[in-house]
Amino acid sequence: MKKKQFKAESKKLLDLMINSIYTNKEIFLRELISNASDAIDKLYYRSLTDEKVHIDREEFKIEISIDKEHRTLTISDNGCGMTEEELENNLGTIARSGSLDFKEELEKQEDVNIIGQFGVGFYSAFMVSDKITVTSRSIDSSDAYTWESSGADGYSISKGKRDSVGTTITLQIKEDTEEESYQEYLEDANIERIIKKYSDYIRYPIQMEKEHTHKKDEKEEVHKEIETLNSMIPIWKKDKKKIKDEEYQNFYHEKFFDYEDAMKTIHTSVEGNVSYTALLYIPAHAPYDFYTKEYEKGLELYSNGVLIMEKCADLLPDYFSFVKGLVDSSDLSLNISREMLQHDRQLQLIAKNIEKKVKKELETMLAEKREDYEKFFKAFGMQLKFGIYNQFGIHKDVLQDLMIFYSSKQEKMITFKEYLQNMQEGQDKIYYAAGESIDKINLLPQVEKVKDKGYEILYLTDYTDEFVIQTLMNYDGKDFVNVSSENLDLDSEEEKESIKKENEDNKDLLTLMKDALKDNVTDVKFTNRLKNHPVCLTTEGPVSMEMEKIMSAMPTEDKIKAKAVMEINDSHPITTKLKDLYQENPEEVKKYAQILYAQARLIEGLTLDNPSEISSLIVDMMAK
Ligand code: ADP
Repeated sequence: MKKKQFKAESKKLLDLMINSIYTNKEIFLRELISNASDAIDKLYYRSLTDEKVHIDREEFKIEISIDKEHRTLTISDNGCGMTEEELENNLGTIARSGSLDFKEELEKQEDVNIIGQFGVGFYSAFMVSDKITVTSRSIDSSDAYTWESSGADGYSISKGKRDSVGTTITLQIKEDTEEESYQEYLEDANIERIIKKYSDYIRYPIQMEKEHTHKKDEKEEVHKEIETLNSMIPIWKKDKKKIKDEEYQNFYHEKFFDYEDAMKTIHTSVEGNVSYTALLYIPAHAPYDFYTKEYEKGLELYSNGVLIMEKCADLLPDYFSFVKGLVDSSDLSLNISREMLQHDRQLQLIAKNIEKKVKKELETMLAEKREDYEKFFKAFGMQLKFGIYNQFGIHKDVLQDLMIFYSSKQEKMITFKEYLQNMQEGQDKIYYAAGESIDKINLLPQVEKVKDKGYEILYLTDYTDEFVIQTLMNYDGKDFVNVSSENLDLDSEEEKESIKKENEDNKDLLTLMKDALKDNVTDVKFTNRLKNHPVCLTTEGPVSMEMEKIMSAMPTEDKIKAKAVMEINDSHPITTKLKDLYQENPEEVKKYAQILYAQARLIEGLTLDNPSEISSLIVDMMAK
């Protein structure tokens, strides 16, 4: 018989399985059982829509048998089976999305520990087997076929024998080695343990023939009995009090292909206008594709334990798209179509409730487990921020209290509410500063004075942050004010008067400087804003320097420019120098203007358009 080779990427995965040093090999059984259960589901669906297919639901089962002598473990199901072509396509190539995730992860890091934590599927059986034989008969065929492979050297398919529709998978269990025992996969008790651990909720009976010894008339008698090993109750239908966290996490890993535990599990049952059970998870980290358009949000949707949709997007608002999980409701009809579902009132009610529930849980985490919340916010805060400024802020009320930003005063992340509680007597604004990092913002000249006056400043370090603040505009009646905005009103009336006079008296000097800087600035003026720094840039209008920086990094045609004002520290010695110079040599003042402007840009973290020109100016001055 002709041997066929596996497709390249399948081979890679296969090699990994065969040579796996992954310790949690037992998950192979969960994979095979899950495939068997899916196959039965498929056949069941067929029977709903295809009159020619008759089945008896009571007959559905998955059978496990062990042959110690021949070292085989067999998993058999009466699901939809596979045709010759399907055997070829399904088992010769990686099909499932889980495996592809896995492959990509593998290319990023050569870490064997991630094996099995993704849904690695059928091939995982090679972790414990030398040879795998699959005999299958499809519901669409009267012939059975056998697929066989010893791993790396390829596979073969030939005519096989099976009396009824379904699939039988026989694993030739590896011999024990010095480091590894495979014998345990031939022990009833161990197989039973593995099934209880990972596959308890499977909806079809998983049966195994077990040996029992009885004492009868002083004699030991062995007799065999078929036992169902799983409770068949899905985890979400079990009594909450009886579910251990480990069980929730196991289910999460397996179902949602995450290798890390979920950060929060929400299990809730609601009775009333609409009845449903939801089991929701908040992951501890963002999936690698989370912030791409490939990521699909949604929850699994069940009608009384039967899966009707794998990713029901309508159950989650975009800003909570990170939530994984499922909803089971007996109020939904089994054969409702996707289009109908969207308009289903029950579904909309459930979605509303879920949104409220998730929000409440996040608020509780924020209030009671700040460290967890910060971790959550690092992973998914960006999504909440998008949620605030998307659609012109219609969801801002839902989300604003979930925001946290770094506080200059408390040196940790705080909420807007906490900011308000901490406000100074007479303070009526919420101050913020934007920049690339906390360290860089700390160095901003504009920040210094505001801090000195005792005000707390929120530091915005994400590129989305200023859009969020501008969408909110105010919080609880207090306006947000950028410490770099031109109209930051911190001076007393006296100070205002004196600085106004100072600017008027030096009008000619300032105009000369402004003209020297051409379109780069809309104004040059003396201010009290700065403490130690000689200059800074502030902005008029809604576009800040930080926003200009972000937008100029975006690949769009039209660049938005901030209206920059160069402010010179009135109490800095440079001011006296400028005034003197203006009397002696106005031409020199123009050069000073250039250099000061360049400095202000550099402090802001902006680049220079004319670095070599500036460099010559500086060196000329140094050489004098
Ligand atoms: P996945 O189950 O994620 O698709 P697998 O590698 O485990 O990935 O299986 C590949 C495919 O082989 C399945 O999608 C399914 O079509 C088919 N298959 C596997 N086991 C069975 C089975 N017991 N009965 C019918 N089809 C099966």
